[in-house]
Amino acid sequence: MARSLAEVEFVEGRPGTIGRNASTVVTVSVLGKSYWIDRVGTYYFISCERCGGTGYLDCYAHVFEGVCFKCGGTGIGSSLGQIESATRKMRARARRDVKADERYAAEAAEAAEREAAEAIVEAAREVERKAAAAAALAGSHFLGAEGDKVTFTGTVKVAMIVDGYAYGTTQIFLIVKGDGFTVKAYTSAGWAREAVRDQAVTLTATIKKLETRDDERVTVVKAPKIAKVVAA
Ligand SMILES: [Zn+2]
Repeated sequence: MARSLAEVEFVEGRPGTIGRNASTVVTVSVLGKSYWIDRVGTYYFISCERCGGTGYLDCYAHVFEGVCFKCGGTGIGSSLGQIESATRKMRARARRDVKADERYAAEAAEAAEREAAEAIVEAAREVERKAAAAAALAGSHFLGAEGDKVTFTGTVKVAMIVDGYAYGTTQIFLIVKGDGFTVKAYTSAGWAREAVRDQAVTLTATIKKLETRDDERVTVVKAPKIAKVVAA
């Protein structure tokens, strides 16, 4: 049986229950939305969302015989009244839901737009970062080839005590930067232990390895010996 009142359509379906009452499940279609409600006699109800209209919760079977706290066992979420009132209330509910959907869609569209704009900015930053790294790399050179003994003057950028290869020993991790080059070394030399940041030094060392980073070429050396401390 189908009844249409304005744009709200009630279609009666299978038998159901609400609380201890036998009901008829009714599909309400309005504004493109569907709802299931229960009819008992000439009255319509929305079933309790907690217990689904049964009035009982299995998980509380050991407490108050499982009676749903939300509806007190009636199974009723809200009473819609008889057909005219139920029609009016379901139309109002559908309008609210449609508005909420629209609001949600608008917010989602806004968020997507914002994300797209952020992605463009981020991509531009990445391009800039890569260009800067490439420029830095182009301006950076190795001090020689593996095995070469080299002498160079630069500034201590890092002189940090780290664990040595042997247990209980320490080494100094050194980074020295000069004009267009970067040198990295591990050493236990005494002078390195006293080295401080931004101190200018001239060192002699043997090239151990060449490392190319995104933005610089790093000459890894071993056994760096100090030739002189350049006056700051
Ligand atoms: Zn309930």
